[in-house]
Amino acid sequence: MGPARCAAAGKNVVEVLGGAAGADGGGRASGGEPGWSRRAAPRSGKHIVEVPGNGRRWSPLTGPLTGRPESGAGPRWNGVPHRDAKTADAAMLTVNEIFYSIQGESDYTGRPCVFVRLTACDLRCVWCDTPYAFHEGRRRGVEDVVAEVQGYGCPLVEITGGEPLLQPDVYPLMDRLLAAGATVLLETGGHVNLERVPAEVVKVMDVKCPGSGESHRNAWDNLARLAGHDQVKFVIADRADYEYARGVVQRHALAARPAVLFSPVHGVLPPERLADWVLADRLPVRLQVQLHKYLWGAETRGV
Ligand code: SF4
Repeated sequence: MGPARCAAAGKNVVEVLGGAAGADGGGRASGGEPGWSRRAAPRSGKHIVEVPGNGRRWSPLTGPLTGRPESGAGPRWNGVPHRDAKTADAAMLTVNEIFYSIQGESDYTGRPCVFVRLTACDLRCVWCDTPYAFHEGRRRGVEDVVAEVQGYGCPLVEITGGEPLLQPDVYPLMDRLLAAGATVLLETGGHVNLERVPAEVVKVMDVKCPGSGESHRNAWDNLARLAGHDQVKFVIADRADYEYARGVVQRHALAARPAVLFSPVHGVLPPERLADWVLADRLPVRLQVQLHKYLWGAETRGV
C-alpha cells in the first residue's frame, strides 16, 4: 500500500469505531498448548490449565470472568486503578480478527499465541502489512472477545491492530485477560500515550523509522513509560533507517533494555544485510524476522 494522509485516516477511524460492521476475519483451527497439564476442576468439572512459571492459573473453558484478580489490588497502571469491572461488562470493541498462531515477532517469537486484532489505525506506514485492519471489523462485547480467546486454551495473548490503543475499551479487555491469568502482549505503534496500559501488560512498542513515512509521529515520552519487560521494535527498510535506529538506541540508552528488536521490512531489506550491519557495529540488539511469513507466506492472513 502507499502512504496516505493521516487527516483522512483520522476521519475513517471515527467512522469505524462508531460501529461500522464488516467482514470478520477468520483464523486457523484452535488447539491446546502442548506441555500444559489440563485437569478437571474439583467442583465445576471444567478444565484448568496450569501455567508453568508465572504462578497464575488460566481457565480457558470457564466462560467470562467477573471482578479483579484475587490479590485484591487489581490491575494497575502507574499506580492508578483502572475502571470498575462492572463497566468492563458493557465494553465494546471493533474487532478485525481473532486467531491462534505462532508468535512471529517480539521476544516471544515461536510461542503459540492467540491474537486479537483490533480495527483502525491513524498511521499509514508505507510498508504496512495489515491495511485490512484499517476499516474491516465487527462490533463485539469484551466478554464475547474474552470468551473466544479462552476457548483456544492458550495463555499467551497478543492485542494488536491497526493501532489497538485507539479504542478506549481496549483497557477493560486488557484488565479482563490479566484477571484470567493470561500473559498479555500489546503491539503498539508508539505514538499513543502508554500511561493507561496496565503495568503487567508486555508492551511491544514501535519506534517508527523514516522509511515508514511516520517517524514524525514518534512519541518520545513513551520511552520513559516502558517497564523492564517491555520491548522496543524498529522496522527497518534500508541503511538510512538502520542508522536512524542505531542513533535512537544510542541516544536513549536502549541497549540496556532486555529486548530491542531490529526487524527488516519483509521482501524489501534482506535480513542478512541487516545482520551484517548489526554485527559490524557490535550493536547489542536482537535481529528478528517475521517468523509467521516464513512459515505461511507473506500474504496469508490469520496467522
Ligand atoms: S502502525 Fe501498524 S497498522 Fe498502523 S499503518 Fe503502521 S504498520 Fe500499519
